[in-house]
Amino acid sequence: MNLSSLSSQLNISIQELRDKAKAKGFSISPRANKIDNSLAKQVLASLQEAPKVEAPAIPVDPTKIKLPGYIKVRDFALLLDKPVTEVIKALIKNGVMATINEEVDFETATIIAQDLGFEVESEEESSQEYSIGNMQSELAAENQDELVPRPPIVAIMGHVDHGKTTLLDAIRTTNVASGESGGITQHIGAYQVKKNGKLITFLDTPGHEAFVEMRARGANVTDLIVLVVAADDGVRPQTIEVINRAKFTNTPIIIAINKIDKEAANPMRVKQELAEHGLLTEDWGGKTVAVEISAKQNKGLDDLLEMILLTSEVENYKANPNGKTLGTVIESHTSLGQGSVSTVIVQSGTLKVGDVIVAGASFGRVKSLEDEKGKKLKQAGPSTPAQISGFSELPEVGDIVRTVATLEEARAIATTLQKKNRSHKLQIKRGLQGDANSKTLNIILKADVAGSLEAIKQSLAKLKNDEVTINILSEGVGEVNESDILLAANSQGTVIAFNTKTNPKAINLAKQKQVSVDSYEVIYELLEDITSAVVKMFTPELEKVSFGKGKILQVFRTEKGEMIIGGNVNEGELRKNKPIAIWRGEEEVGRGEIVDLQHNKVAAKEVTNGQEFGMKIKTNVKLVVGDTLESFEENLKQKTL
Ligand code: GDP
Repeated sequence: MNLSSLSSQLNISIQELRDKAKAKGFSISPRANKIDNSLAKQVLASLQEAPKVEAPAIPVDPTKIKLPGYIKVRDFALLLDKPVTEVIKALIKNGVMATINEEVDFETATIIAQDLGFEVESEEESSQEYSIGNMQSELAAENQDELVPRPPIVAIMGHVDHGKTTLLDAIRTTNVASGESGGITQHIGAYQVKKNGKLITFLDTPGHEAFVEMRARGANVTDLIVLVVAADDGVRPQTIEVINRAKFTNTPIIIAINKIDKEAANPMRVKQELAEHGLLTEDWGGKTVAVEISAKQNKGLDDLLEMILLTSEVENYKANPNGKTLGTVIESHTSLGQGSVSTVIVQSGTLKVGDVIVAGASFGRVKSLEDEKGKKLKQAGPSTPAQISGFSELPEVGDIVRTVATLEEARAIATTLQKKNRSHKLQIKRGLQGDANSKTLNIILKADVAGSLEAIKQSLAKLKNDEVTINILSEGVGEVNESDILLAANSQGTVIAFNTKTNPKAINLAKQKQVSVDSYEVIYELLEDITSAVVKMFTPELEKVSFGKGKILQVFRTEKGEMIIGGNVNEGELRKNKPIAIWRGEEEVGRGEIVDLQHNKVAAKEVTNGQEFGMKIKTNVKLVVGDTLESFEENLKQKTL
């Protein structure tokens, strides 16, 4: 091996290399400019060895703990140096039902630890910053003064055959964004059109699965939904699903009443049906915009685009083109020539060729950016969809894309996210258990006929209570399909199938997403299960059981946090190692615990009515003669419906 290449590998001069090698005991002839390979390896290894440094002894503050993104209850208790039962009790108090082997997330663990007097730091401070859920807050943290209007990102949704594809094609062909013709038009998952000098971005990912999928990952790409309803067919199950989902994600809807060219078209009926589902158009005294169109005959499209622009103006979509670069993967596939190819919608900042990017567990350098016409772009600003190549592996739809300074950093983040995703997946548990934090039981209800659907809904309404909300996210007649599963997966919900099957694709998806589909043939059993799920989500109440009372006759010693007193039991009994409530007249002034108890100078487990006692009490209250001590314990009591 050449000495010069070895020295450049080590980033030192040849002379330095010789000196250092000599100091390490290798001899390199002063005139030689080559050394043998095995010697080179040894020299390299010894010079790259990090100098050994004694680890500094950092005093550990016992009340400070570091928590990972997720931690098993058992490990958490160990970390806190508390009995598992105490930790579980604290969790229950905060509405979290977790067993010893289950994991709790960082936020939950933090609340519990703080409750127990610990100071918490995140073990993953740096990687947290890159977590998906933070995108919204990162966007919100952008400097308000630098925000400029950006095009709206619109998704077209609706029942099958109501004309979504026809509408997307009609908009695409009649409105060309850049004004230049030619170029290959490719489906990259989104395209932009220009109307009145303003851009609109349309997602043309078929179906709304992708939309739900993205939403689940905290990436809400869609600003606005155009809900297509065929004027001759009216509101159908998927129409209702879209309405429910838009409500769930708080996304504005514009109605496109399509196929008005048809003889059977009845736009008024469509509006009436929409009103029945809580979507009030202007005719019905509401604010939802409805536009009548014919996608097939290109009628009403201008109106629709204008309404989209108008709504966007009201909603005031903005981003900082010079801020942090963030985007979302909306499409992803492997191309023979280019390797992994993904379409990204930029949501903030500007993505440029050459940028180092990371998306979920994949990373890379942007090799090329292309628009939907196959035109090469140098950069893509907010709301711009661009197909990019350069990822190390295929990112997933919904992954958040961000730029970082170096490939090393990108690799490190991708690796952390890989781990994190894994533990997150472990954490998600399905089945009828609801979300104990939000206290909602999200249900996707499917039944054989409308009659049973109604009956189930009426019975569920009877389970209404103050603490847990039963939220029917979507309801419908027919088989359980893939979109039901996705909705369940993304809302931590449960699919309930009454006298109906689950189609094979949905069964597979359910397995993959760990969604359980609960099937019933008897309404009574269905209600029983839901009732028990609701009851499990109730925060148990602490029930105080009083053992007895005694009066303080003498205070012997007062120390910080501990007092020794003498007194007399005048009701029931007082028990050692149990808490006491300290009463001064009618007022409870504090609490403590009996740590030592004596009767006639002999240690006792309890003292009973009429007996005199001496005791040591752990308390922060300064006890005085005349105070009443109430011995009690608290039990958790599960509420019922
Ligand atoms: P999608 O399933 O919602 O994407 O619906 P398509 O766009 O595939 O349309 C379903 C059928 O309705 C096709 O045969 C279309 O030609 C037809 N269609 C769509 N829009 C219109 C319209 O405005 N008028 C009429 N008469 N037919 C339409």
